[in-house]
Amino acid sequence: KLSKRLQMIADRVPVGSKVADIGSDHALLPTYLAQKGQIVYAVAGEVNPGPYEAAKRQVMETGLSKIIQVRSGDGLAVIEAGEVNVITIAGMGGSLMASILEAGKSKLAGVQHLILQPNVGEEQVRRWLLENGWKLTSEVILEEDGKIYEILTAEAASEAEKLELEVLYQTWQIPGGVCVNKDRLLLMGPYLLKEAADIWFVKWESELKKLAMIQSQLKLSNTEASVAKAEQVSQEIRDIKEVLACLQ
Ligand code: SAM
Repeated sequence: KLSKRLQMIADRVPVGSKVADIGSDHALLPTYLAQKGQIVYAVAGEVNPGPYEAAKRQVMETGLSKIIQVRSGDGLAVIEAGEVNVITIAGMGGSLMASILEAGKSKLAGVQHLILQPNVGEEQVRRWLLENGWKLTSEVILEEDGKIYEILTAEAASEAEKLELEVLYQTWQIPGGVCVNKDRLLLMGPYLLKEAADIWFVKWESELKKLAMIQSQLKLSNTEASVAKAEQVSQEIRDIKEVLACLQ
């Protein structure tokens, strides 16, 4: 049985897909999808030897090696352009995820869906999607074992849609939504802002606490860099508080 988090990722993979699961660790996600008959083909990519061996073992033991290929390599280097139509990347930071997508751009031809679950730094993932012609189509937030996760899904935008992506961020409407702008949408999630689930508030209250701690640390040192960083953190705190106040 999958964790709730991986199950929600699995639920977003269209039936009949060819999937690359990047940073697959034990290949639990592609194994589950193949066992359910939800996918016809998968590549499980791993950059680290331990998880790579674990993935190979898992695929061999479940007898799925006809469907799942386990490959060792960095990010999208493990796939050929056109080999898969869905990419899942889960359980790593958003900036690493964005850099994997950026470095692997040439492999994204023919990919229709990206299903991404950054552990932190969702903003960087949304920004990469926006700047690279991917349309964010859904966002979900969930809690499991005291941790809060977001799952972002995106589709390759048509040429016409690409021109509209920026406009979407400029004109996005949320209830009580006078207080959002593009940067705040990228930070907090356009769909998540629309829904404003209880758990989403919990996440941002806890982010505020973390930022306040960072701020007090920064105040202890008086270098130019720390003053500049403190100002940036203050701005972020103001942004978040304003949005939360608007929605409450
Ligand atoms: N995707 C699984 C999940 O969500 O449960 C495993 C997440 S695990 C915390 C992150 C995995 O990503 C690790 O196994 C790590 O080796 C792998 N990883 C990190 N950087 C990577 C990269 N550049 N390319 C491929 N895999 C990477």
